[in-house]
Amino acid sequence: MDKEDILFGTKEWAPHNFNFMKGCSNDCTYCYAKEMAIRFKRKTADSWKNEEAVSLEGKSFGKRNGRIMIPSSHDITPGNIDLAMDVISRLLKSGNELLVVTKPNLACIERLVDELLQYRAKIQFRFTIGSSSTTTLKLWEPGASGFPERLDALKYAYGKGYETTISAEPLLDEKLDDLYEKVSPFVTGSIWVGKMNFPDRRVKMNATSGIVPNHVKALIAAQCDEKIIAIWEKYKNNPKVEWKESIKKVLAKHVEI
Ligand code: SF4
Repeated sequence: MDKEDILFGTKEWAPHNFNFMKGCSNDCTYCYAKEMAIRFKRKTADSWKNEEAVSLEGKSFGKRNGRIMIPSSHDITPGNIDLAMDVISRLLKSGNELLVVTKPNLACIERLVDELLQYRAKIQFRFTIGSSSTTTLKLWEPGASGFPERLDALKYAYGKGYETTISAEPLLDEKLDDLYEKVSPFVTGSIWVGKMNFPDRRVKMNATSGIVPNHVKALIAAQCDEKIIAIWEKYKNNPKVEWKESIKKVLAKHVEI
């Protein structure tokens, strides 16, 4: 695989994205959007978790050529679900296809699923679940839902006939087998697997701390090239599993595909 062929970030999933908030109450310690907001002084490490609606004045809700990922730099949460319903409905009414990416809050997903049923064919859900352990999820994503709630949300969308996919990016531990076993029966499409990018730098910036906590060191060790290749070897022939760019870069260094 040639490094030049690898697509990066959200462009791997959709040519467009749409955001309607600044800040995110999930407050993930590895968050790229938080790191950028702090760097460019739009938010602080403390204020990132305060969600503020952005002005939608002049923003087009028209039909785009290709799928729209929504959101890509915040999440859909109980604090913004009314606005999320409005924005998503407007995009769907224009004939767009949406990739809804979220660490699912069950009440929000029930509302999206029930109220958008007529647009079901135009929506794909991508639920971010990097571990089957709530303890692990809470270490990295303190404001987001735990594993049982994410699984219930997945089951709910699946049960109502929506297309469901998973983002295990970033993978938060070495237990992909356990996660795969629990979520795969309710996934109609792909399970995307990816590493965490720059965990030590990002956690330090996002927590304004010079200390790298032990769980960050443990994850860095768990995501060494050797262990990533072992995961890939195990799932490489599984048609449900897709590899994000962070893993393709490891493979490009070591493996002839
Ligand atoms: S859910 Fe996404 S946008 Fe929100 S804090 Fe976590 S990584 Fe950042």
